[in-house]
Amino acid sequence: MSLEPNTHDFEASLARSTQRSREIEAQVAKDPSKWRVLTGDRPTGHLHIGHYFGSLQNRVRLAGLGIDTMVLIADYQVITDRDGVGPIKERVYSLLTDYIAAGIDPEKVTIFTHSAVAALNQLMLPLLSLVTDAELRRNPTVKAELDDTGDRPMSGLMLTYPVHQAADILFCKANLVPVGKDQLPHLEQARVIARRFDERYGRFDPDAPVFPEPEALLSASGTILGLDGTKMSKSKGNTIELRMTADETAKLIKRAVTDSDRHITFDPENRPEVSNLINIAALCLDRDPVEIATEIGDGGGGGLKKLVTAAVNDYFAPHRARRAELEADPGYLHDLLAAGNAKANEIAEATLHEVRVAMQMDY
Ligand code: ATP
Ligand code: MG
Repeated sequence: MSLEPNTHDFEASLARSTQRSREIEAQVAKDPSKWRVLTGDRPTGHLHIGHYFGSLQNRVRLAGLGIDTMVLIADYQVITDRDGVGPIKERVYSLLTDYIAAGIDPEKVTIFTHSAVAALNQLMLPLLSLVTDAELRRNPTVKAELDDTGDRPMSGLMLTYPVHQAADILFCKANLVPVGKDQLPHLEQARVIARRFDERYGRFDPDAPVFPEPEALLSASGTILGLDGTKMSKSKGNTIELRMTADETAKLIKRAVTDSDRHITFDPENRPEVSNLINIAALCLDRDPVEIATEIGDGGGGGLKKLVTAAVNDYFAPHRARRAELEADPGYLHDLLAAGNAKANEIAEATLHEVRVAMQMDY
């Protein structure tokens, strides 16, 4: 069996996943009750508008369709590629606040943190026995994360990150994971682990595997670039954070990189920075980017930035207002997280029990 990444294989698997995602969307619309979604974020910083349009909006949509949804604040994963946890408590609550402000219904959605769910983490042990060191080193995301961290030696947690992510998905038997295409190899690893577990321990009842094989729901949305023209990323300091004020937003957009051509056109390939700003405005205004570009025309970078600033500030004003209300009630946020963690623990303990039965370790 070869797991060597290869461009042709990747293209083929991307085409398959895209097709399958379309089928799943149709199935979900008909009967949301068959699905459980697992998504989440690392609390490495504050959520930004890239998260909002790239994943939050879709989470709100899926949960709104009535799909059982689990949202993981992956606090242990913060220390895969850095020495300390940073101001983690503040960041965890900031994520939680943005989820609720964005419209995730905490009555229906389970929001939880890694560190509070012991049984999830215990699952790592049997799952780790199902993968090889070579397999993990070949994982494209592990490789990419490693390149990002420069010459830092790889920690055991970083190397086993795909297994931890498999545990995140499998502990709650999520069968649907919204991902970007870069995350497909991770999901494939989780599927392989689910299958191997059942090959090794589930033979008594092949029709009732302990773990369902999770499927990817590929997100259609593109990548939002940051103010420096590279991917907007919460640890890069190039973001418009959801928690920022209108003034902070205006100042940041004023400094955003554009190009020397004064005439504004929408041309993502040749003018990525300008087109990214137009795209952000288009998302906020729910308008066609080409139309926006034509309208600005000779208004230049200044005209573009003015329009983007107004669009972002108008669009996020209600989000920011809800955010402020939530921040004023830290007790409520604390209770929400405690309830989410209690629910996640219940689910994790039930799954761990099944795993121990399958492994004949239920003494
Ligand atoms: P970090 O700096 O810790 O890597 P990040 O800001 O890059 O943080 P991730 O946690 O890596 O965010 O991303 C989580 C998910 O959020 C992604 O899989 C993607 O769906 C969405 N997302 C993040 N950044 C963007 C972006 N710039 N444009 C669109 N979607 C994004
Ligand atoms: Mg990232």
